[in-house]
Amino acid sequence: MNEYLEHVNMMTLVGFLFGAIVGSFINVCAFRIPRNKSVVFPPSSCPKCKQRITWYRNIPLFSWLLQRGHAACCSFKIPVRYFWVEFINALAFAYFFRLSVISSSWDIGIVGCFFSFILISIIIIDLETMTIPDRFSMGGAILGLILSFAFPSVHQLDGVDIFSRLHSLFTSVLGLLIGSSFLYWIGAFAYRIFDRDALGEGDVKLLGCIGAFCGWKGAIFTIFGGAMVGCALLIPLMIFQKMKPGGAETHDHSVSWGKEVPFGPFLAVAALVFFGGMNEFVDKWLSVKLAPLLNVIGS
Ligand SMILES: [Zn+2]
Repeated sequence: MNEYLEHVNMMTLVGFLFGAIVGSFINVCAFRIPRNKSVVFPPSSCPKCKQRITWYRNIPLFSWLLQRGHAACCSFKIPVRYFWVEFINALAFAYFFRLSVISSSWDIGIVGCFFSFILISIIIIDLETMTIPDRFSMGGAILGLILSFAFPSVHQLDGVDIFSRLHSLFTSVLGLLIGSSFLYWIGAFAYRIFDRDALGEGDVKLLGCIGAFCGWKGAIFTIFGGAMVGCALLIPLMIFQKMKPGGAETHDHSVSWGKEVPFGPFLAVAALVFFGGMNEFVDKWLSVKLAPLLNVIGS
């Protein structure tokens, strides 16, 4: 029993360290992809003085902590964001590694790590540039289809024979189509009613990617979960801005959907929560509450 626990903790630590390394790569992607630069070449260099960063000054988490956010080459201050991205990705990987060891199947671990890599990259890039690169949203959707075929247990299917794989792939395709079209129609109606764009095409593609990984129930959960997370954070912020002296007049600086605040990061957070364990509760709740309806749809 003790040995088992040691093994679980050991693998959690391995997941954490591996996640920190991948998080460091996310930082590279988030800086270079929106600027149309290669993510593999040239090697890491200081954004200010362009000097190459030696490997021992480029260790995820530790280098930032040891240098307290200051570059070794010049006066460049490394944003604290770099540290947080590595840390949050490390936590996500540690979680999926632990889940895999406990459930003694690496399916959820492999797919979960790919999914968190894609979603955390999207969160950072969308927050910074208000766009979601196709190679993450569309590339992620294709990856979701491939991984669904490879690991049917991700969609709660038991077998690994060709029929289970095709069933899993079909579940994934259905999730992609239902997720993206549902969000597309919400956006289309919102545009007619409020006469402004609240959702971007990037969000619709992102929901397709989420549906490919989580199935259609996960996609629907993500839309409502994302909206709830967004409202919980945005409404206090809007009220606060209205209360500030002269806050209501400075209209250009007030926060609002789709313009100053991207919707993508909220969707990504909700999708990670769903994939990380919420799916069991949602599936159970849906099958109890909506059993008659599900029979009609045939799922
Ligand atoms: Zn420098």
